[in-house]
Amino acid sequence: MARKPIIAGNWKMNNTIAAGVELVKELIPLVKDNDKVDIVVCPTSTALAGVSEAKKGSNIHVGAQNVHWEKSGAFTGEISADMLTEIGVEYCVLGHSERRDYFGETDEGVNKRARAAFAAGITPIICCGESLEIREKGAYLEKVAYQVKMALDGFKPEEVEKLVIAYEPIWAIGTGKTATFDQAEEVCKHIRETVAAAYGQKAADEIRIQYGGSVKPATIKDLMQQPNVDGALVGGASLKAKDFSEIVNF
Ligand code: PEP
Repeated sequence: MARKPIIAGNWKMNNTIAAGVELVKELIPLVKDNDKVDIVVCPTSTALAGVSEAKKGSNIHVGAQNVHWEKSGAFTGEISADMLTEIGVEYCVLGHSERRDYFGETDEGVNKRARAAFAAGITPIICCGESLEIREKGAYLEKVAYQVKMALDGFKPEEVEKLVIAYEPIWAIGTGKTATFDQAEEVCKHIRETVAAAYGQKAADEIRIQYGGSVKPATIKDLMQQPNVDGALVGGASLKAKDFSEIVNF
């Protein structure tokens, strides 16, 4: 079955409100005729509302970079799913390796965040991926399958099919070292098989799996040829409208 590709730009902690609005305004005309890809930009929290307003009427969707699992309460520094939907957020990156490595996020927490986002109508983009050490030990397929199973725990098959998973080998993020197309395909295929075993073939056929890690305009075409790669999560190259538009218009 044909899965619609999804390409998301993770702006990380970059761009003020003004810079984010300017970037999305620059992007709109460059991607306006693209109806073959779901295009998502994920600004930092302060810029979400402004970017969401600026992209109105375009084919660009807005994603957050995290969400808390509770609806409200004493959770200093956190944002709830309802607070995000109020300002037009439709996607949310979850379990990014930077959140896991620098802020101690766990597989259990990622699962709770994913379930809260989904329940509020936000599509989680759930990140997984192995460190260089695990890759070199040869244990990367087990590691990624474990992260995926933990993140999807408690979802029903008809929910799983609507989710997005981003396979991001940590050693390829921001390093300029892209995984080879075969390496990306091997792990994305394994993720799909893991989903099939736990949630059935329909969920596996429909869930969208992105690759992330130093994706550039020059690499996207070949990456998208891989049968189990349904899109990309793009960091650095999403900060320039021209580069990101060339990626989404592959
Ligand atoms: C990311 O952080 O999700 C990412 C893929 O970054 P980059 O494209 O810069 O490697």
